[in-house]
Order: sequence, then C-alpha cells, then structure tokens
Amino acid sequence: MTDPRVTLVSLAKKISEKGLTISIGGNISTSLPDMRILITPSKQHKTLSELDVNDLSVVSLSGELIQGPKPSAELPMHIAIHSAAQGNNWVIHAHPPMAVAYASEKTLPEQLFVESSRLRFSLVGLKSPGSEELAKAVVEKIREGSNAILLEGHGVVVVSNYANDAVLLLEELENLCKTDLARHILKSSR
Ligand SMILES: [Zn+2]
Repeated sequence: MTDPRVTLVSLAKKISEKGLTISIGGNISTSLPDMRILITPSKQHKTLSELDVNDLSVVSLSGELIQGPKPSAELPMHIAIHSAAQGNNWVIHAHPPMAVAYASEKTLPEQLFVESSRLRFSLVGLKSPGSEELAKAVVEKIREGSNAILLEGHGVVVVSNYANDAVLLLEELENLCKTDLARHILKSSR
C-alpha cells in the first residue's frame, strides 16, 4: 500500500501545478487508522507546492496534535468531515478561481457534460474560514449527498474515497464553471 503521506504530498503538488488553488490557499487531509487524520500544515509552515512528507501533521479526531507541525487552520472542517464517516477518506479544500467566482456570486453552474454528471454540488453561505459553523454547514451538505461544496466568498471542498478521484472532482468542477461562464458570455453577445 502506498504511504498516505506520499499520496497527500503528490496531491498537493498536483492541485498547485494545475492552477486549482494558489499555493498558500488550500489544505488536504486523509483518514488514518485509530481515529487519526493526516493533514497539511498551517500555511505559515509551508505552501502546498513546497510540501515534503515530513511536513505533514497527524491529528486525532478530537483535535489533538499527535505528530508534526501546527495543522491547517481549516482543521475543524476536516475533522468534522472525517468524523461524519460517510466513506470520504480524502478531503481537499482549495480556491480554484472560476469556482470561487461562482461561489462568490452564490451561483451554481449548469450540468453540461457527461463527465461532470457525477459532481453533486451545493453551496454553503458565508461563514468564517476555520470556524465550527463552516465545518457544520459543510458536513450537512455531505450528509445530503454532495461531493463538491462551494463556499460563498471563499473556496470549495471536494470529498472522495479515493485520492486521485478527489483531484478529478476538483478539476471537473473548475472546468464546468469555466465552460458555463463562456457559454453565458457567448449567449449574451448574440
Ligand atoms: Zn480556504
């Protein structure tokens, strides 16, 4: 089995390189055995694209730091998602520019492609980053069946049981928002 630390670092690099988040704005976690999670560190420590396997934090589901540097400020949201145990082993929070624009306008894109049909997206209204309130609202959407949640004025969260699938969901969501926007521009210029 691949070391989850290696997988997590490669996801962090992938989403930075693909422009799906600016390097300081995003965090990733995965569940580990014994009620623990592995999570990216606080952005004061290192940015996503610079991460190394030794930079990751191990935290208990009750929020206690077990190993590594100070965890991401979005720890409450990651803990809440893993505690909800809906089979979502991988959680990515990122700031993909187009999806963030949709989230800021409180608009969801239209389902346009077969590829995007597995995206079950929803929107969470304005909440402070890192807050318990945000964590609760996101978990509620996941319980209702969402796997891609847009956070008003902030970013997005995608969840999946598989690491690479979580990246694909993020990519598909961003792509859908781009195409939906281009479609609106073309329509309005006719
Ligand atoms: Zn954020």
